[in-house]
Amino acid sequence: MADRTDSHLTPAVFLDKDGTLLENVPFNVDPLQMRWTAGAQSALRRLSQTGMPLIVVSNQPGVALGYFIQSELRLVEARLQRMFASCGASLTGFYYCPHAPHRAAGFSCTCRKPQPGMLRRAARNHGVDLSRSWMVGDILDDVEAGRAAGCTTVLIDNGNENDNGHGQKCERVPECAQYARQRATFSCRGNHRELRRLSPRSVRA
Ligand SMILES: [Zn+2]
Repeated sequence: MADRTDSHLTPAVFLDKDGTLLENVPFNVDPLQMRWTAGAQSALRRLSQTGMPLIVVSNQPGVALGYFIQSELRLVEARLQRMFASCGASLTGFYYCPHAPHRAAGFSCTCRKPQPGMLRRAARNHGVDLSRSWMVGDILDDVEAGRAAGCTTVLIDNGNENDNGHGQKCERVPECAQYARQRATFSCRGNHRELRRLSPRSVRA
């Protein structure tokens, strides 16, 4: 039962937004300040060629902290859709956690990464097989959320994650570390066979 693959479900790629797809502008909801990170456009073009749904999952504690209201995130989503379209890609879903970090909130939500709630909700909504899906992010909270959801994880090595890797729980160790995004090529710490699934020619979504 646990190993059964649901053939009607699709693999997907979950993408972190700030620091991964876009330059990190803290608490930004101004569409005019949304800019691609280096290499993101070419990576997105390549990912779109796999045919897999592309779903953004983003922590947005600025809602709970009172920096902006949720409706402003709809402008962010609309701008993101246009940016994806400019790369020939389609944004299948935009999920965000509006809650504050647990210590500040005084309660634990299940959606703020490193919790896997956003990925699980997106999977239910879009018929996604999490076990065949990928989570791509720039910090270990993204990796941990992806692993908790059962995805294969990619950590973009752009300097945003300062953890030196020692003493990590296994849930925070990525399957793959991605370098040289400008060339849209991938290096890998672990599973090359799995990594090749990202190649458009070999993916059957
Ligand atoms: Zn949350």
